Parts: sequence; structure tokens; C-alpha cells
Amino acid sequence: MPSDAYEVSLESVNKFYTKGKRALCDLTVKVEPGEFVVLLGPSGSGKSTLLRSIAGIERISSGTITIGGIPASSGSNFHLPPEKRGLAMVFQDYALWPHMRVKENVAFALGRTKLARSLCLAAALEMLERVGLSRQADKYPNELSGGEQQRVALARALVAQLGLVLFDEPLSNLDADLRERMRIEIGSLVRTSGATTLYITHDQSEAFALADKIGVLEHGRLVQFDVPESIYNQPATEFVARFTGISGEIRAITKEPVAPGIIQVAIPHSSGGRILAKNLSNAQAGSEVSLLLRPSALRIVDVNDTNANLAAHVTDVAFRGRGYDVALKLQDGSHLNSIYSDHRMKLNESVGLSIDPVGCFVFGGRAALMDPQSVPRYFPLDMKETVA
Ligand code: ADP
Repeated sequence: MPSDAYEVSLESVNKFYTKGKRALCDLTVKVEPGEFVVLLGPSGSGKSTLLRSIAGIERISSGTITIGGIPASSGSNFHLPPEKRGLAMVFQDYALWPHMRVKENVAFALGRTKLARSLCLAAALEMLERVGLSRQADKYPNELSGGEQQRVALARALVAQLGLVLFDEPLSNLDADLRERMRIEIGSLVRTSGATTLYITHDQSEAFALADKIGVLEHGRLVQFDVPESIYNQPATEFVARFTGISGEIRAITKEPVAPGIIQVAIPHSSGGRILAKNLSNAQAGSEVSLLLRPSALRIVDVNDTNANLAAHVTDVAFRGRGYDVALKLQDGSHLNSIYSDHRMKLNESVGLSIDPVGCFVFGGRAALMDPQSVPRYFPLDMKETVA
């Protein structure tokens, strides 16, 4: 890592666009030098606003942003202009200068340095070689494909070896096969450069593949900031779990805790073995809860298998090359999808579902403490026995 990779620190940042409408809510986060951080969230969650505020394209309403130890924004009064922040940005639509050749586009990023023009061009050509575009150096952007243009933008962002590189959904205009190739190239080139990186996307698989740490945004709030493994295995909220990929949700009732953080649950109207789940919201025994299931925690087994936790039948089978994605309907009527099978199962086939507690999360139930003798509102009368 170069010694000048920047730390980026945000303290209680708020951004109001219009009266009363907050795009960023009290956002505090610290990104370590050289870290690759992906900001993940649905459309409208504030990702672009956050990135543009760090870039200096957007003014924050309150709070502070510090880049490389230097104040960049402080409340609405102090605002360092983008070109003084020592960062580069790669945009979704490439943002190349159409009147400049490819090599000039890249060399332009060195314009602020004191390098002679010939040295700037030499550095640009070397960078173009690294992104596999040396033969396109004399072309104009409109003579290149979308993927090639994005590589030029990447070369332009990295050539000046700045301490911070920002990526604004750089793959969203590319076709699926090219996205994966570019994703790998970005990951490898940026890591080699050693720069601190902030990358925004709404695609959870892209986030998990690239990030040292992921920040999940919901309605302008940072709801979790952690390594990908923790986001996947210990989602902070139901929203984080849903947004980072689940097979489905089942209504359940909690029984007794069996170990710290692990609780047994019962699924109304369902037969099967004992189901254990991570109690991520500290639900009490006898609470109505949602069970959120990661696809990786689910295994289809024989209907009579002793490992079967639930009975189900197959409702859809999709061939995915490496195997099949199976959709199941459970006895309580709920649906689960994206469950792996190594062979083509038959529609309507009866199966068992084995659930690994590592990816089975209990959420909710805080206010729904229930007398086990009573019947919950939305469950049919004959489920009293299943709960008890
Ligand atoms: P994302 O990048 O996650 O899609 P944005 O940062 O673009 O989210 O938007 C966050 C919120 O701020 C949204 O509600 C959006 O409508 C609003 N917003 C974004 N840009 C502007 C703007 N220039 N003027 C007014 N509201 C905006």
C-alpha cells in the first residue's frame, strides 16, 4: 500500500436536498487507509449522495468529512472543492472527454502534477497497457465499446496514484459477462494501486465479491458496516438480511433458547424435526417472529431423512449450469427459492428440507410476547399443539 492512501472519516453527516427530506441521516463511518469499502443499498438509499458528498460534488448540510487527515467538509460553511481533495472518481457513464484521444484522456489526469507532457503521456500509455488497451491509445472514446471506455476511465482514475478512488456503480451499463470480467479487473488493479476505495452498488453479489468491508444503507442511514462474512452471517436488521439475499421468510414461534444466541422455533402447520435459529433480535420464548433463511443454509434431503427439519414439495426447477435452483412450497404455504440441487428434481416431488442454523435468522417478536396457551392472531386454531 502506498504510504499516502487516505483515511476517510465521516462524523454525523446529514444532507437535506429539499425542506424536510433527508438524503443522509446522521452518518458516521471511518474507512481505514487502503481499505476497499463497498456501499450497498437499494435505489434512493443515499449511496450517490454519500459518494458525491465525499467527492465534494455535493455540499453536506451538517457534520464533518475528513480525507487523509484534512478537513474536506464541515457543516454547510466549509467545503473544499473536488479538485483539492486528492481523489479520483469513476462514473457509471464513463465521463470521458469525447474530443480527446484515449491516451490524452488518461494523461489529462496528470495535468495537475508538475510532470512534463511527454512523461504524462508515457505514464498514460503504461496505465493503458495495464488495462489491456495499449492498441486503442490513439482512438477516440466513441470508437470504443462500453467495456473499453470503462477501462479508460479506470486507467484515468488510477494513473495519478491518488490516495482515494471513488466508484459510482461502474458496472451498471455493461453486459452480464463483461461485468464479471471488469469486476475482477477493478478488484485486482485497485488493490495493486493500494488506494483507499469507496465503491457504490445496488448489487449484493458485486459487493460481497469486492469488499473488504460493506456499508449497508437504508433511507440515508448506515445500518451496518462490517466485513462481508459478518454482514452475511450476522445481519444487523431484517432489511440487511433481505437485501443481501434470502431464499424466503417463514412465520414462526420461538420456543426455548438452547444456547447463547440460538433458539428453537416452531413453524405452525408443519411437521418435521427440531429447528434451531440465530436469535438476532433477542426474541423471548413464545414470540411471533419471522424466520429469514439464507439459500446457503438450506439443503434438500429425502422426505424421510432424519436431517429433514421441514417437509416441502418442489414448485420450480431452473437449470443454472453448475446445478439447479429449486423453489419449494412448505406445508404452511410459504415459498422458498434459490435452493441448490445437483440434479433435476421433479415438479411436485415431496422432499425434506434441512436447515443449518448458521443461516437461519429470527427477527421481530419484541412486542409480541405470547401466552403459549393462547392462540396467535394469524394462526389457525389447530396450531396450538405445534407451539406448545
Ligand atoms: P441512491 O444513489 O442510493 O439511488 P441517491 O443518493 O441518489 O440514492 O438519493 C437519495 C435520496 O435523495 C432519494 O430520495 C433521492 O430522491 C434524493 N435526491 C437525490 N438527488 C437529489 C437532488 N439533486 N435533489 C433532490 N433530491 C435528491
